[in-house]
Amino acid sequence: CGIVGVLGSNEVAPILVEALKRLEYRGYDSAGIATVNDGSLDRRRAVGKLINLSDTLVHTPLAGKSGIGHTRWATHGVPSVTNAHPHQAGPVAVVHNGIVENYKDLRAELAEHGFAFETETDTETVALLTQMHMSQGMDPRAAAEATIAKLEGAFALCFLFDGEDDLIIAARKGSPLAIGHGEGEMFVGSDAIALAPMTNKITYLDEGDIAIVTRTSLEIRDANGDLANRAVKVIQIDQ
Ligand code: GLU
Repeated sequence: CGIVGVLGSNEVAPILVEALKRLEYRGYDSAGIATVNDGSLDRRRAVGKLINLSDTLVHTPLAGKSGIGHTRWATHGVPSVTNAHPHQAGPVAVVHNGIVENYKDLRAELAEHGFAFETETDTETVALLTQMHMSQGMDPRAAAEATIAKLEGAFALCFLFDGEDDLIIAARKGSPLAIGHGEGEMFVGSDAIALAPMTNKITYLDEGDIAIVTRTSLEIRDANGDLANRAVKVIQIDQ
């Protein structure tokens, strides 16, 4: 029930877990993170409390300075490691809050293209569609945009890509999402509270926005695909 993303200058796993802790108040049944390390996507997931994810990370550390994280409140598929986010399909990892209402149609479409499913979630369709678009020659951004255009429902999404150490794509449709501005670092969170230890400079996405985030830039496209100018707010949060 929470999303975080970090394009940082330090090891990102502890920062992601810390940010997820600040979203614990929303409730969740499992958690996970993915990073890009030496150009490669990798992930760790665990059922239950964040301490279980932390334990997993002690035994099998995850390096990398860019990553995404998630606390899940299962809507489609039981709470399990397999169903926990991030969902990875080839060159893309995805975290998602909310529901992809048309996931059955999307599963049917993906099955026609020969894709098999590992999970019972609606979210896996998002990862697989993006993989399919990339295998058709689209770059990460075009692939994510083409995927988002196909999704019905209320959701927030973050995408992380293999070989892309400086890119997170985030989308808001019905579920709030905040972008945090650091010094040569950028952050994404379900709310500003999650990002409070890192930054108090926040840009809130509007309904239908897609954000292309790098460490030094933030491009936001509105629901029509037009460049959007969203304010950077300096907010006050009691830590
Ligand atoms: N519908 C997704 C799932 O069940 C996301 C749930 C959430 O918002 O955490 O995996």
